[in-house]
Amino acid sequence: MSEDRSLNFIEEIIEEDIRNGKNGGRVHTRFPPEPNGYLHIGHAKSICLNFGLAQRYNGQTNLRFDDTNPEKEETEYVESIKEDVKWLGFNWANELYASDYFEQIYQFAVTLIKKGKAYVDDSTPEEIAEQKGTPTEPGRPSPFRERSIEENLRLFEEMRAGNYQDGEKVLRAKIDLASPNMHMRDPIMYRIRHAHHHRTGDAWCIYPMYDFAHGQSDSIEEITHSVCTLEFIPHRALYDWFIEQLEIFPSRQYEFARLNMTYTLMSKRRLLQLVNEGFVSGWDDPRMPTISALRRRGFTPASIREFCDRIGIAKRENIIDVSLLEFCVREDLNKTAWRRQAVLDPVKLVITNYPEDQVEFFDGENNPEEENGGGTRAVPFSRELWIEHEDFMENPTKKYFRLGPGLMVRLKHAYIVKCESFEKDEQGNITEIHCSYLPESKSGSDQTQIKVKGTIHWVSVPHAEKAEIRLYDRLFNVEDPAGDDSDFREHINPQSLQVIPEAYIEPDLKNAEAHKSYQFIRKGYFTLDKDSAPGKLVFNRTVTLKDTWAKEVKKQ
Ligand code: ATP
Ligand code: MG
Repeated sequence: MSEDRSLNFIEEIIEEDIRNGKNGGRVHTRFPPEPNGYLHIGHAKSICLNFGLAQRYNGQTNLRFDDTNPEKEETEYVESIKEDVKWLGFNWANELYASDYFEQIYQFAVTLIKKGKAYVDDSTPEEIAEQKGTPTEPGRPSPFRERSIEENLRLFEEMRAGNYQDGEKVLRAKIDLASPNMHMRDPIMYRIRHAHHHRTGDAWCIYPMYDFAHGQSDSIEEITHSVCTLEFIPHRALYDWFIEQLEIFPSRQYEFARLNMTYTLMSKRRLLQLVNEGFVSGWDDPRMPTISALRRRGFTPASIREFCDRIGIAKRENIIDVSLLEFCVREDLNKTAWRRQAVLDPVKLVITNYPEDQVEFFDGENNPEEENGGGTRAVPFSRELWIEHEDFMENPTKKYFRLGPGLMVRLKHAYIVKCESFEKDEQGNITEIHCSYLPESKSGSDQTQIKVKGTIHWVSVPHAEKAEIRLYDRLFNVEDPAGDDSDFREHINPQSLQVIPEAYIEPDLKNAEAHKSYQFIRKGYFTLDKDSAPGKLVFNRTVTLKDTWAKEVKKQ
């Protein structure tokens, strides 16, 4: 986290609390995912915020699984969430589960019943909704609202014992049916669900609602600052009411604006739909906005943390341009990625005056951004090279500084060549380019005084390795795929994945390591995909080199 920025509003609150000696100056936050899907970039914002606050104020952060919804939750998700948080670079103080508090939360409910603050209601969900009234009209009491404490205690115990079917009864808080805040109109605390839970198995058939589990869990863990997204503002009164009535540790809730990003869906429910309906290959399909997909695609933890830091913490909804995320990863990879040559759309170039059996090895810097170029690797050069189709034009336009009949170009790390002739097939495709080279023009010891404007990359034909390369574009072709009434599936970009089955890469890339980034010169940043196997290299393009965002920022 950069230290030069001003405090965000939550940090201001915390500093005020510390000055006032609140909670003895202690700061304890939590990150509370529901294990019903994989984490996405929006969760990364919450993770960076919660763990970042604790780091800044010498506090602690709990990782708490908010697992109170038995039907949708799975252990697979728990494992992936832990992996993602660790990968982002954070360590939790305690790994906790709301389900571990089921007994305690049940006892809290009993306490409220005994205080006359909760009752068992036999009304159907439709009746309850109807009784609730509207924001402008007060609600009506349920016919079961005035049950005696004894009867409520007995019925609630029977609910727990499994005497009733799903939906037959609920436990409700007895608050205020005329409250302008609909959440205070006798909200449901417990519902019956005869469902298997991923941790508690069949021990329970009643489960607490979010509002009667979240704040209580915060309080049990003595969380000082419970931060959540703006949708929970209307829940805050209820959060405080339960804590007051129960006279338990006074955790406090603060709300910040969730991350919304252009061209990106940010809801686990919808992402699950993309997976289940086969629009993507899985939660970690590199086009997904999940942390696991970003990792697979080659994003670094540092780039995601930097992104979260740059977007900051606001009190109002906004929408972030996805190109800021791309900018952050580009900046980070520029500093660390090793440069390599790869030709994605190959055409053969023959150097007619280069001896047939000759091979030279040039020193290619691993990374000019690093000290001493980050070391070098040997790049083999021979008479026949692969170059990109787009680096040759039969009828070059005026500002085309690459190859064309009679034009000169420098081959990266090697020599200046001049195009003498070319061959075409019957369809008019260029099949071979013939050049001559200037032996005195060798990079580093150029004697020619010739200035050429273009430098192109290449791979020696007899030394080339083959690789499959996957290029990604945005998964959606509209900025706000969930924004209008149409189905987000209609906005899927059919060109979001382009597979190049056989590209040519320099031989050193045979040793490419997983989770390491490579800049394919002029083509972008790439990383090995998990589909790679011995003898089969598969690379993902993380991001292109073009820096559209920086240009946008300069314009402003
Ligand atoms: P989704 O709607 O994608 O399922 P969620 O809020 O239901 O998200 P949780 O697992 O409940 O997912 O979220 C864990 C934490 O992450 C919560 O504190 C939540 O506020 C936060 N969070 C979720 N989405 C975002 C987002 N887009 N931006 C910032 N924080 C988020
Ligand atoms: Mg949720």
